[in-house]
Amino acid sequence: MDFNLSDEQELFVAGVRELMERENWEAYFVECDEKHEYPLRWVKALAELGIDTMLLPEEHDGMDAGLVTLTAIWEELGRHGAPTYVLYQLPGFNTMLRHGTQEQIDKIFALRGTGEQMWNSAITEPSAGSDVGSLKTTYTRKDGKVYLNGHKCFITSSSHCPYLVVMARDSASPDSPVFSEWFVDMSKAGIKLNPLDKIGLRMDSCCEVIFDNVELEEKDMFGSEGNGFNRVKEEFDAERFLVACTNYGVALCAFEDAAKYANQRIQFGEAIGRTQLIQEKFAHMAIKLNAMKNMVYETAWKCDNGTVNSGDAAMCKYFCANAAFEVVDSAMQVLGGIGITGHRVGRFWRDLRVDRVSGGSDEMQILTLGRQVLKKYR
Ligand SMILES: Cc1cc2nc3c(=O)[nH]c(=O)nc-3n(C[C@H](O)[C@H](O)[C@H](O)COP(=O)(O)OP(=O)(O)OC[C@H]3O[C@@H](n4cnc5c(N)ncnc54)[C@H](O)[C@@H]3O)c2cc1C
Repeated sequence: MDFNLSDEQELFVAGVRELMERENWEAYFVECDEKHEYPLRWVKALAELGIDTMLLPEEHDGMDAGLVTLTAIWEELGRHGAPTYVLYQLPGFNTMLRHGTQEQIDKIFALRGTGEQMWNSAITEPSAGSDVGSLKTTYTRKDGKVYLNGHKCFITSSSHCPYLVVMARDSASPDSPVFSEWFVDMSKAGIKLNPLDKIGLRMDSCCEVIFDNVELEEKDMFGSEGNGFNRVKEEFDAERFLVACTNYGVALCAFEDAAKYANQRIQFGEAIGRTQLIQEKFAHMAIKLNAMKNMVYETAWKCDNGTVNSGDAAMCKYFCANAAFEVVDSAMQVLGGIGITGHRVGRFWRDLRVDRVSGGSDEMQILTLGRQVLKKYR
């Protein structure tokens, strides 16, 4: 595996660096985080560089860039303190092309280049978290229409996404469950949103979503009937990989902030970075960063070469979410009081804590990875 970037990839990364250094984005991120607002102006600026559709094939006016390129861009954005977690919908254009009807594709592609949020999957319910197969939301066919009823929770981006792809079970088949997905226009009657207050990842919304007899048409099915869970499995792997990339980028930023500080901050007549206890922290941080970097690039390379499996994605998410949390926690310790009282490293610490639960908990990643590892030796 050769992770040296090509000239084209270097240019792309340089474009992102130039964008991040053009203005004080950190002030904007602080404002968005405080107000729980999506950083639309920043995402739009990225979309203008073509980042939103970089994964799309060239015949759809994309760049056909692979995940190694995406990792390099995420690394650069991350080291500038940017909230790459609001970009998790980026592979959503490709998913639409693979599974959507022409009408659904047209609706989502109309949002290209705008930076606006477009769609997200709604699976989790109050009584169906890790055990997603126990979900209770139903779809019922009646007089040529389809009616959606149920209660979803923790649904990311749901305050602003114009569409959700909702997983539900066929009410006509209670004994042998049939799970299908529905492309739901969020302006329809019968949908209620209850926003939730999150400790981290606050630049993206998260809501309970209640569907009360929401009327749909047969044409609103997303993908094919009964294929719901097969479809989302591929999405879970992509999401887990993106979470890991974000975690690595954030840890890199915290590490660099803390390293500069440790070399400048004088206590007891010398820079704190000259004390062995602080140096030990940086040694451990550097080891974790190196391991994360290798793991995300390797997983990206495997994705690009068609050899990735669910175990790789689970390993990457579990390791990076935890290692990044430890790096950021050490960086906060180095920063002392200022890490606790408004420095961006404090925001990263809150954000990272969320990632050990959302997108599949640590425990679920370990279970997935354990199964996958043993499969090879059956
Ligand atoms: C900020 C945020 C955003 C989210 N966004 C979305 C979204 O956009 N769409 C969506 O559908 N969902 C979303 N989720 C839901 C997320 O995927 C679930 O929260 C997650 O899967 C865990 O479910 P739960 O919270 O119900 O916890 P539970 O499943 O109730 O688990 C509680 C604890 O028990 C552990 N546990 C459960 N079962 C086992 C077991 N068999 N063995 C060992 N330990 C176990 C878990 O690991 C966890 O530590 C989001 C969640 C959060 C917090």
